[in-house]
Amino acid sequence: MKYYSTNGKAENATLEKAVIKGLAEDKGLYMPEKINPLPQEFFDNIEKLSFQEIAFRVAECFFGEDVESTALREIVYDTLQFDCPVAKVTDEIYSLELFHGPTLAFKDVGARFMARLLQYFLKQGGEYLMQGGEKKNKNINVLVATSGDTGSAVANGFLGVEGIHVYVLYPKGKVSPIQECQFTTLGKNITAIEVDGVFDDCQALVKTAFMDSELNDAMMLTSANSINVARFLPQSFYYFNAYARMKEQGKAENLVMCVPSGNFGNICSALFGKRMGLPVKRFIAANNANDIFYNYLQTGEYHPKASVQTLANAMDVGDPSNFARIYNLYGGEHKAICRDISGATYKDQEIMDIMRECYTNTGYILDPHGACGYQALKDNMQEGETGVFCETAHPAKFKATVDSILQSDIEIPARLQAFMRGEKKSIAMSKEFADFKAFLLNE
Ligand SMILES: *Cc1c(COP(=O)(O)O)cnc(C)c1O
Repeated sequence: MKYYSTNGKAENATLEKAVIKGLAEDKGLYMPEKINPLPQEFFDNIEKLSFQEIAFRVAECFFGEDVESTALREIVYDTLQFDCPVAKVTDEIYSLELFHGPTLAFKDVGARFMARLLQYFLKQGGEYLMQGGEKKNKNINVLVATSGDTGSAVANGFLGVEGIHVYVLYPKGKVSPIQECQFTTLGKNITAIEVDGVFDDCQALVKTAFMDSELNDAMMLTSANSINVARFLPQSFYYFNAYARMKEQGKAENLVMCVPSGNFGNICSALFGKRMGLPVKRFIAANNANDIFYNYLQTGEYHPKASVQTLANAMDVGDPSNFARIYNLYGGEHKAICRDISGATYKDQEIMDIMRECYTNTGYILDPHGACGYQALKDNMQEGETGVFCETAHPAKFKATVDSILQSDIEIPARLQAFMRGEKKSIAMSKEFADFKAFLLNE
């Protein structure tokens, strides 16, 4: 299958090229040229299938033309070695817990899937990769700048994958100790680089590296950010599984799914799911105080702004990159977008109140991101609807915040604790590009 650019000025790409390049030449985002629907028979029996089997059927629709079937099954089964359960919060509201992956982040799925897909293309000797065959350093080198969550998901997803080396750049003293352990203790093919600067400096180093011709002649560089088709499309697996688990409980009629959103990759994958036939009535995009998409829904006008810091910091995005994909998916029609998606926005004070209300009345512990999702359902659901919101982070990832709001002492899961016992190793780096470049050329 070919992938086109949302900006319409770049040549269509193969899956292999779209995954390695990430962004099209015209700076647009890649979109699959076809969205293959799933047959009615699949939905009729979906509740009998496991998460892995459901995901494989969905993956075939996207990647079946480009990845050999047994290899694709292996990639999907390897990626999803954990559950994605729904938990009942109230009679009408269920939490889809997206935090059961290795780093307790929903981003684990896309990161692992992308790593395994790249490995597949390396083994096949893909056409696009072969053009880079003359390079001195034959690895694929993944550069990722992180303020916390993305770095740990990508590092763990790529850990031990042969032929690929990952460089995680993070700002010194600006990520939480738990997060830092998740990418500095791994070793093997993961190098953590502690930059003497802020997140924007890390991002600038990565962006400059991608544009530096000398560096690109010497080594194959790729990014693993969330706009990559191999990271965002696999997130649709979650929504098919949610439908199946709700159907199992006889609760699949008039489903409303609510997604706490930042860059809008997660909800975008859900909308692809709907296009493939997933029987969800409508979606809600829940925002924190960064309300750019909310305002677009109200006015039909899209005005990016500088992001503001909130308690739900993984959603602090002022210019959501996947807006371009959603806009493109609906042919730029505001009305059509509003038919499928409505919005909600919550300030920090509201997020704290919501977390307390939910904990007091239901006993369920929300993290600040999930809190926006839960409340958006409470505020917007109509008679006869059942709501499912994504709980996008394990509350223990935000332990200090959650404990201070709820006066609790929540337990840190064993998986997180295990990271904290490893030995921290990182390379100190200035924020000067010349230093970073010299380091990479010496690798
Ligand atoms: C990444 C992330 C989000 C936002 O997801 P998008 O796909 O960027 O909209 C929400 N919550 C958490 C905890 C995240 O890590």
